[in-house]
Amino acid sequence: MHIIERRRPYRLIYQQALLARTSPSHKSYPLLKEKVRRRSAGFAGEIQFDRVCAEYREEMQFRLIPDFKTATHQIDAICIFSSFIVIVEVKNISGHIHMDGTKRQFFRILNGVMTGMTNPDDQLYRHEKLVRRLIGDKVPIIGIVVFTNPSAILEIKNIKRRVIHLSGLPFVFDELVSHYRTSPTIEIEQYFNSLLSMQPPLQIHTPPLISYPLLEGVFCPDCPYTKMNYSRNFWRCPLCARKRADAHLLALQDYRLLIGSTISNLEFRRFTGLQSRTNAWTILQSCGFQKIGNKKSVRYVIPEVDLRKNSD
Ligand SMILES: [Zn+2]
Repeated sequence: MHIIERRRPYRLIYQQALLARTSPSHKSYPLLKEKVRRRSAGFAGEIQFDRVCAEYREEMQFRLIPDFKTATHQIDAICIFSSFIVIVEVKNISGHIHMDGTKRQFFRILNGVMTGMTNPDDQLYRHEKLVRRLIGDKVPIIGIVVFTNPSAILEIKNIKRRVIHLSGLPFVFDELVSHYRTSPTIEIEQYFNSLLSMQPPLQIHTPPLISYPLLEGVFCPDCPYTKMNYSRNFWRCPLCARKRADAHLLALQDYRLLIGSTISNLEFRRFTGLQSRTNAWTILQSCGFQKIGNKKSVRYVIPEVDLRKNSD
């Protein structure tokens, strides 16, 4: 069975690269850092959700589509069972969570600070409509909001949809399976493949122009913002003395995300602060990237690889 792994969203990968190349003293740094923290936490919550689903799949047959996307919608998860489909909005936030179905209001209070947020119940309403339009109304579609942070305290008023903690997911799935046990069944694989085919092809992202100078260098993976020095085939960190042969790969990914997907020897030297043209040539050759252009103006095509770990 082909299981779809959840991938880190492009926006998170992009913002992490931008954060790594933005000086901590720059005015946009604090907001960017907060955005990365929030997105990392969101992704970590979705991974936790996938784990609970994987465990549940050991006892019950169903299919999970993580991060279902169309041009206008992004659904955190779609779970296809034989007699119903569950659409999930995953939230990884802590504090007192207030949802009011009459006022359509959603906010949380954390450390005395009240923050309004997009109402997941309204998001689900939109998503349910979309999925109904895509697959028809032969099968019940149920929207559920799942909070993955165990410290969140839920205060829910007048909400018809289920709003639960992640730990309660197997219970709710059991309840739904039991409720729909005599309902007509669907071909799970057919619906799974059909929904997958409705997603547009992966978008090619062109990096926007960044209005401030980016930090240059190859940074130590363990000491943020510390430039490594290159000598005798290795990058060395002056702070922790760690030595790495491939530290430039992350710098090249940053370049691809923030500037462009191809790089010349000169651009590589400018971006990494490397002096020697020969060293730059040796490093770029060792990457095994596809090359375009002629000998004098050769450009290396940087493939897309997600090299950063989730920080949450
Ligand atoms: Zn270091």
